[in-house]
Amino acid sequence: MHRIAPTPSGYLHPGNAANFAANALLADGGPLLLRIDDLDRERFRPEYLEDVFEVLHWLGIDWTHGPKDATDFERHWSQEYRMTLYLEALEELRTRAPAQVFACPCSRKELADGVHVHGCLRGSIAFNRPAVAWRVDTRGTILHESMPWFAVRKKDGRPSYQLACTVDDLHFGITECARGEDLRDSTAAQALLSDLLGYPPLLERIRFVHHPLILEGGEKLSKSQGSRGVREWGVSAKEIFQIAENWLRVTPSNHPPCAPP
Ligand SMILES: [Zn+2]
Repeated sequence: MHRIAPTPSGYLHPGNAANFAANALLADGGPLLLRIDDLDRERFRPEYLEDVFEVLHWLGIDWTHGPKDATDFERHWSQEYRMTLYLEALEELRTRAPAQVFACPCSRKELADGVHVHGCLRGSIAFNRPAVAWRVDTRGTILHESMPWFAVRKKDGRPSYQLACTVDDLHFGITECARGEDLRDSTAAQALLSDLLGYPPLLERIRFVHHPLILEGGEKLSKSQGSRGVREWGVSAKEIFQIAENWLRVTPSNHPPCAPP
Protein backbone atom coordinates (compact mmCIF):
# COMPACT_ATOMS: atom_id res chain seq x y z
CA MET A 1 0.00 0.00 0.00
CA HIS A 2 1.29 3.43 -0.98
CA ARG A 3 0.09 6.64 0.54
CA ILE A 4 -0.49 10.29 -0.16
CA ALA A 5 -0.63 12.02 3.21
CA PRO A 6 -1.19 15.79 3.08
CA THR A 7 -1.92 18.02 6.04
CA PRO A 8 -4.84 20.44 5.52
CA SER A 9 -3.06 23.35 7.18
CA GLY A 10 -2.72 25.64 4.15
CA TYR A 11 -3.20 25.71 0.40
CA LEU A 12 -0.99 23.13 -1.27
CA HIS A 13 1.96 24.26 -3.38
CA PRO A 14 3.57 22.67 -6.47
CA GLY A 15 6.02 20.77 -4.24
CA ASN A 16 3.13 19.06 -2.47
CA ALA A 17 1.56 18.24 -5.84
CA ALA A 18 4.83 16.77 -7.13
CA ASN A 19 5.01 14.64 -3.98
CA PHE A 20 1.48 13.35 -4.73
CA ALA A 21 2.62 12.59 -8.28
CA ALA A 22 5.73 10.76 -7.04
CA ASN A 23 3.61 8.55 -4.81
CA ALA A 24 1.13 7.87 -7.62
CA LEU A 25 4.04 6.90 -9.89
CA LEU A 26 5.44 4.54 -7.26
CA ALA A 27 1.99 2.99 -6.71
CA ASP A 28 1.78 2.41 -10.47
CA GLY A 29 -1.93 1.64 -10.42
CA GLY A 30 -1.71 -0.52 -7.26
CA PRO A 31 -3.22 0.23 -3.85
CA LEU A 32 -2.93 3.94 -3.05
CA LEU A 33 -4.31 5.42 0.14
CA LEU A 34 -5.31 9.05 0.54
CA ARG A 35 -4.62 9.77 4.20
CA ILE A 36 -5.27 13.34 5.25
CA ASP A 37 -3.43 14.12 8.46
CA ASP A 38 -5.76 16.50 10.30
CA LEU A 39 -4.58 16.11 13.89
CA ASP A 40 -3.71 19.79 13.99
CA ARG A 41 -7.29 21.03 14.14
CA GLU A 42 -6.19 24.56 15.03
CA ARG A 43 -4.69 25.12 11.60
CA PHE A 44 -7.35 23.04 9.81
CA ARG A 45 -9.71 24.91 7.52
CA PRO A 46 -12.44 23.41 5.28
CA GLU A 47 -11.03 25.21 2.24
CA TYR A 48 -7.65 23.51 2.75
CA LEU A 49 -9.40 20.14 2.85
CA GLU A 50 -11.25 20.93 -0.39
CA ASP A 51 -7.96 22.05 -1.91
CA VAL A 52 -6.46 18.56 -1.39
CA PHE A 53 -9.22 16.99 -3.51
CA GLU A 54 -9.03 19.75 -6.09
CA VAL A 55 -5.28 19.25 -6.57
CA LEU A 56 -5.65 15.45 -6.80
CA HIS A 57 -8.38 15.78 -9.46
CA TRP A 58 -6.33 18.37 -11.34
CA LEU A 59 -3.38 15.94 -11.36
CA GLY A 60 -5.68 13.12 -12.52
CA ILE A 61 -4.63 10.83 -9.67
CA ASP A 62 -7.03 7.99 -8.85
CA TRP A 63 -6.51 6.75 -5.32
CA THR A 64 -7.93 3.37 -4.34
CA HIS A 65 -8.39 3.78 -0.56
CA GLY A 66 -9.44 6.65 1.67
CA PRO A 67 -12.07 9.39 1.49
CA LYS A 68 -13.87 10.12 -1.76
CA ASP A 69 -14.44 13.77 -0.88
CA ALA A 70 -14.40 16.25 2.00
CA THR A 71 -17.73 15.06 3.40
CA ASP A 72 -16.64 11.42 3.33
CA PHE A 73 -13.42 12.47 5.04
CA GLU A 74 -15.13 14.26 7.89
CA ARG A 75 -17.62 11.39 8.36
CA HIS A 76 -15.25 8.43 8.21
CA TRP A 77 -11.57 9.18 7.75
CA SER A 78 -10.50 12.00 10.06
CA GLN A 79 -7.62 11.08 12.36
CA GLU A 80 -10.04 11.83 15.21
CA TYR A 81 -11.60 8.41 14.46
CA ARG A 82 -8.24 6.74 15.15
CA MET A 83 -7.64 8.61 18.42
CA THR A 84 -8.12 5.40 20.43
CA LEU A 85 -5.29 3.77 18.49
CA TYR A 86 -2.98 6.71 19.20
CA LEU A 87 -3.84 6.83 22.89
CA GLU A 88 -3.28 3.08 23.19
CA ALA A 89 0.12 3.49 21.52
CA LEU A 90 1.02 6.24 24.00
CA GLU A 91 0.15 3.97 26.91
CA GLU A 92 2.18 1.22 25.27
CA LEU A 93 5.18 3.55 25.01
CA ARG A 94 4.88 4.58 28.62
CA THR A 95 4.83 1.00 29.85
CA ARG A 96 7.27 -0.55 27.36
CA ALA A 97 9.89 2.20 27.30
CA PRO A 98 9.84 3.97 30.68
CA ALA A 99 13.57 4.69 30.40
CA GLN A 100 13.19 6.48 27.10
CA VAL A 101 9.85 8.24 27.34
CA PHE A 102 9.42 10.98 29.93
CA ALA A 103 6.94 13.65 30.93
CA CYS A 104 8.14 17.21 30.48
CA PRO A 105 6.57 20.57 31.35
CA CYS A 106 9.47 22.56 29.87
CA SER A 107 8.71 25.63 27.80
CA ARG A 108 10.13 26.08 24.33
CA LYS A 109 12.78 28.38 25.74
CA GLU A 110 13.75 25.94 28.48
CA LEU A 111 14.07 23.20 25.89
CA ALA A 112 16.27 25.42 23.73
CA ASP A 113 18.60 25.83 26.70
CA GLY A 114 19.15 22.09 26.54
CA VAL A 115 18.66 21.21 30.20
CA HIS A 116 15.46 19.86 31.63
CA VAL A 117 15.33 22.12 34.65
CA HIS A 118 12.34 20.32 36.16
CA GLY A 119 14.17 17.02 36.53
CA CYS A 120 12.15 15.60 33.64
CA LEU A 121 14.91 13.19 32.59
CA ARG A 122 15.04 11.70 36.09
CA GLY A 123 11.35 10.89 35.83
CA SER A 124 10.42 13.60 38.34
CA ILE A 125 7.28 14.59 36.48
CA ALA A 126 4.19 12.39 36.64
CA PHE A 127 2.86 11.33 33.25
CA ASN A 128 -0.68 12.23 34.25
CA ARG A 129 0.17 15.76 35.39
CA PRO A 130 -1.80 18.34 33.37
CA ALA A 131 -0.03 20.33 30.67
CA VAL A 132 3.01 18.11 30.27
CA ALA A 133 4.35 16.80 26.98
CA TRP A 134 5.60 13.25 26.68
CA ARG A 135 8.99 13.22 25.00
CA VAL A 136 11.55 10.72 23.83
CA ASP A 137 15.06 10.77 25.26
CA THR A 138 17.11 10.87 22.06
CA ARG A 139 20.52 10.89 23.73
CA GLY A 140 22.85 8.42 22.09
CA THR A 141 20.98 8.49 18.77
CA ILE A 142 21.64 10.46 15.60
CA LEU A 143 18.41 12.34 16.28
CA HIS A 144 19.85 14.15 19.26
CA GLU A 145 21.40 16.86 17.08
CA SER A 146 18.47 17.44 14.77
CA MET A 147 15.39 16.52 16.78
CA PRO A 148 16.26 16.26 20.48
CA TRP A 149 13.49 15.26 22.87
CA PHE A 150 10.86 15.00 20.14
CA ALA A 151 7.31 14.82 21.48
CA VAL A 152 4.98 11.85 21.21
CA ARG A 153 2.22 13.57 23.14
CA LYS A 154 1.66 17.31 23.18
CA LYS A 155 0.91 19.38 26.24
CA ASP A 156 -2.79 19.37 25.39
CA GLY A 157 -2.78 15.58 25.68
CA ARG A 158 -3.10 14.96 21.95
CA PRO A 159 -0.72 12.69 20.02
CA SER A 160 2.09 14.29 18.05
CA TYR A 161 2.54 14.00 14.31
CA GLN A 162 5.41 11.53 14.79
CA LEU A 163 3.31 9.23 16.96
CA ALA A 164 0.20 9.32 14.77
CA CYS A 165 2.19 8.79 11.57
CA THR A 166 3.97 5.75 13.05
CA VAL A 167 0.68 4.23 14.19
CA ASP A 168 -1.11 4.99 10.92
CA ASP A 169 1.62 3.56 8.71
CA LEU A 170 1.37 0.21 10.51
CA HIS A 171 -2.43 0.38 10.72
CA PHE A 172 -2.81 0.87 6.97
CA GLY A 173 0.00 -1.51 6.00
CA ILE A 174 2.06 1.07 4.14
CA THR A 175 4.96 -0.50 2.20
CA GLU A 176 6.44 2.38 0.23
CA CYS A 177 6.38 6.13 0.57
CA ALA A 178 7.91 9.11 -1.18
CA ARG A 179 8.47 12.09 1.09
CA GLY A 180 10.59 15.21 0.97
CA GLU A 181 14.19 15.03 2.09
CA ASP A 182 13.31 17.53 4.83
CA LEU A 183 11.48 14.64 6.51
CA ARG A 184 14.50 12.37 6.89
CA ASP A 185 14.68 13.15 10.59
CA SER A 186 10.99 12.32 10.88
CA THR A 187 11.66 8.97 9.25
CA ALA A 188 14.41 8.29 11.79
CA ALA A 189 12.14 9.38 14.67
CA GLN A 190 9.35 7.12 13.41
CA ALA A 191 11.79 4.21 13.05
CA LEU A 192 12.79 4.73 16.69
CA LEU A 193 9.15 4.94 17.83
CA SER A 194 8.32 1.84 15.84
CA ASP A 195 11.04 -0.05 17.76
CA LEU A 196 9.92 1.34 21.12
CA LEU A 197 6.36 0.22 20.35
CA GLY A 198 7.53 -3.27 19.48
CA TYR A 199 6.37 -2.99 15.87
CA PRO A 200 8.27 -4.82 13.10
CA PRO A 201 11.23 -2.64 12.07
CA LEU A 202 9.95 0.38 10.12
CA LEU A 203 12.68 0.42 7.50
CA GLU A 204 12.05 -3.25 6.72
CA ARG A 205 8.32 -2.62 6.33
CA ILE A 206 8.42 0.61 4.37
CA ARG A 207 10.72 1.66 1.58
CA PHE A 208 11.11 5.42 1.97
CA VAL A 209 12.18 7.54 -0.96
CA HIS A 210 13.35 10.96 0.24
CA HIS A 211 13.06 13.21 -2.76
CA PRO A 212 14.48 16.73 -3.32
CA LEU A 213 12.33 19.79 -2.69
CA ILE A 214 11.25 22.51 -5.08
CA LEU A 215 13.04 25.68 -4.07
CA GLU A 216 11.94 29.23 -4.74
CA GLY A 217 14.68 31.81 -4.35
CA GLY A 218 16.72 29.20 -2.46
CA GLU A 219 13.96 28.62 0.08
CA LYS A 220 11.71 25.59 0.27
CA LEU A 221 8.08 26.25 -0.49
CA SER A 222 5.78 26.49 2.48
CA LYS A 223 2.05 26.11 2.74
CA SER A 224 1.95 28.92 5.24
CA GLN A 225 3.62 31.37 2.86
CA GLY A 226 0.67 32.19 0.71
CA SER A 227 -2.72 31.28 -0.50
CA ARG A 228 -2.10 30.61 -4.15
CA GLY A 229 -4.48 27.91 -5.29
CA VAL A 230 -3.55 25.39 -7.95
CA ARG A 231 -4.91 27.62 -10.72
CA GLU A 232 -2.34 30.30 -9.95
CA TRP A 233 0.74 28.12 -9.97
CA GLY A 234 1.52 28.69 -13.65
CA VAL A 235 2.51 25.06 -14.25
CA SER A 236 0.64 22.18 -15.84
CA ALA A 237 -0.15 18.82 -14.27
CA LYS A 238 2.13 17.27 -16.88
CA GLU A 239 5.02 19.44 -15.68
CA ILE A 240 4.34 18.41 -12.10
CA PHE A 241 4.58 14.75 -13.12
CA GLN A 242 7.85 15.49 -14.95
CA ILE A 243 9.31 16.96 -11.75
CA ALA A 244 8.23 13.83 -9.86
CA GLU A 245 9.72 11.54 -12.50
CA ASN A 246 13.01 13.41 -12.25
CA TRP A 247 12.99 13.10 -8.48
CA LEU A 248 12.48 9.36 -8.65
CA ARG A 249 15.25 9.08 -11.22
CA VAL A 250 17.82 10.93 -9.14
CA THR A 251 16.81 9.58 -5.73
CA PRO A 252 18.68 6.42 -4.85
CA SER A 253 16.37 3.71 -3.60
CA ASN A 254 16.49 2.64 0.02
CA HIS A 255 18.97 5.30 0.95
CA PRO A 256 19.34 5.74 4.66
CA PRO A 257 16.85 7.92 6.49
CA CYS A 258 19.55 10.09 8.01
CA ALA A 259 23.04 11.12 7.10
CA PRO A 260 25.59 9.43 9.36
CA PRO A 261 26.46 11.49 12.45
ZN1 LIG B 1 11.68 18.97 30.45
